[in-house]
Amino acid sequence: MPELERHTFDVLVIGAGGAGLRAAIEARQRGARTAVLCKSLFGKAHTVMAEGGIAAAMGNANPNDNWQVHFRDTMRGGKFLNNWRMAELHAKEAPQRVWELETYGALFDRTKDGRISQRNFGGHEYPRLAHVGDRTGLELIRSLQQKVVSLQQEDFAETGDHESRLKVFQEFTVTDLPLDGGRVAGAFGYWRESGRFTLFEAPAVVLATGGIGKSFKVTSNSWEYTGDGHALALRAGAELVNMEFVQFHPTGMVWPPSVKGILVTESVRGDGGVLRNSDGERFMFGYVPEVFKDKYAEDEAEGDRWYTDPDHNRRPPELLPRDEVARAINSEVKAGRGTEHGGVFLDVSSRLPAEEIRRRLPSMHHQFKELADVDITAQPMEVGPTCHYVMGGVLVDPDTGASSVPGLYAAGEVSGGMHGSNRLGGNSLSDLLVFGKRAGEGAADYAAGLTTRPRCGDEAIARAQEVALAPFAGEGGENPYALHVELQQAMNDLVGIIRRAGEMESALERLDGLKRRAAALTVEGHRQFNPGWHLALDLRNMLLVSECVARAALLRTESRGGHTRDDHPRMDADWRRKVLLCSASGDGVAVAELAQEPIRADLLALFERAELEKYLTAEELEG
Ligand code: FAD
Repeated sequence: MPELERHTFDVLVIGAGGAGLRAAIEARQRGARTAVLCKSLFGKAHTVMAEGGIAAAMGNANPNDNWQVHFRDTMRGGKFLNNWRMAELHAKEAPQRVWELETYGALFDRTKDGRISQRNFGGHEYPRLAHVGDRTGLELIRSLQQKVVSLQQEDFAETGDHESRLKVFQEFTVTDLPLDGGRVAGAFGYWRESGRFTLFEAPAVVLATGGIGKSFKVTSNSWEYTGDGHALALRAGAELVNMEFVQFHPTGMVWPPSVKGILVTESVRGDGGVLRNSDGERFMFGYVPEVFKDKYAEDEAEGDRWYTDPDHNRRPPELLPRDEVARAINSEVKAGRGTEHGGVFLDVSSRLPAEEIRRRLPSMHHQFKELADVDITAQPMEVGPTCHYVMGGVLVDPDTGASSVPGLYAAGEVSGGMHGSNRLGGNSLSDLLVFGKRAGEGAADYAAGLTTRPRCGDEAIARAQEVALAPFAGEGGENPYALHVELQQAMNDLVGIIRRAGEMESALERLDGLKRRAAALTVEGHRQFNPGWHLALDLRNMLLVSECVARAALLRTESRGGHTRDDHPRMDADWRRKVLLCSASGDGVAVAELAQEPIRADLLALFERAELEKYLTAEELEG
């Protein structure tokens, strides 16, 4: 075995999206020697794809907005299952994190009087999303990268080496987190290009690897979202929370098949777009659930007036939280009122002048023109639900991002709790910055406080190499692409937008079979840029994480947010009092219940009692 390449740092950040970069900036600013490792090219992460904007109660578009209103909206969107401390920190700190981005060089769209412009989005009471057209994520990443470069220039001035305190390693995939006596000791993985292994030793690791969408057939997520961080955390001994809650964004492209699932941003609806079925009916008015009845317009006239007079009218139901809209579209299509290609119509062409559409939604205009030959300024789009985001992730301490494994931290989509059962649009980009900063701080402080550093033992490294090379060992096994397609189909059909006990049980059986077949799969060729090998390793993670989703979904016998049970259609207040925790057990997953900490009294006081009665048990209300 050739000599292993090794590097040593204080803090390793795995992932270079918004959460990872914000964590790395913070760790470096607190004096930790920090490395960022990312699977794809630096600058290519999901964050870059974010279109609609970043939610922060800055009150620029409506002075009535403040952190309390944002907190309330977030808790309502998550159907009160959110970790309330995370929702509180997020609502309070998001504006600071957005203003701070401006100091890094971000250029947001402005209001006429020069403040950061804010747009409407589903579930947000006031216009709250700071944005840059429909390319907000690109600007967020660009400015975070600019900050990284400016810190590196400071380091050069002081040490003569740009990378002395903050270094980025791209196209490096982490496959293992070696431990030392239960503490994290670093990260092991391979370079995508050469396939060579490298060990990064560090006492603190921040997971910022994003989501799991590639386990589902129709998804807005790209190839990187294979649940690596979720699986790494599980194998290191951490727990995942809320894994049954997967968000299906209501509006993905449905046609042509090659682009099925690609996202159509919610800003289309925020800026006036409406949903119609094949009969031309604006069907969302028939789908406003009881808990939201008093907050949404009764008819089209009131909904339309809201765009110009939001203080005296209620918002249109197209702007309900995503889970509600996705279910409504699903029902319309099932009832035979869908479009030719199995979606519904999203029309902005009859609502805004063509020039305005091109100005506000340039990427959407380009996307439909290029990919589907549809001019959205002249005709409606065909859209349908697509797997978009996972609310579940690593169970962390809200203030520091620490997991239950000493030295292991998580932030961004890979962490869980903040969004409860359903995330509001725009609340992810703000989550990345708020909790990325906190996790960077937590990890740097932890590393600085250690008296002895953990070491990666030879045995752990040898095991990591053996596991990574296993796909080359067999002969005549199946190929990873075929297994991936079967996994995606099973998750889509059996643990998708509407769930039933029998179907989830058969999903678990299929996952078990896939797991056995995956253990014996074969990849051809050698280690140099070998996508088949890469997928084989990703598949291991996707199977483990999919099992978490299916097991937790089977256990939660109610419907809430991103988890809809046909056989348990109601929300049950008793279930709100607990969350489900997944942990690794043998080569599978065990699920346990964890009681939720009661919501702090001053936060509960932000809600009317009548609203709390919809979510809390009688005992909680009296307590
Ligand atoms: P990412 O930005 O995905 O970064 C993950 C990083 O981890 C990448 O660098 C990847 O290479 C790396 N990585 C993964 N696995 C490994 C591994 N094994 N080893 C090394 N590196 C690894 N949210 C909003 O709030 N507003 C929006 O308008 C919005 N629009 C969206 C539009 C689209 C099309 C999509 C897909 C999502 C959108 N979201 C939006 C959601 C939001 O973009 C994501 O939730 C968020 O960007 C996740 O950020 P992250 O930092 O957690 O992960």
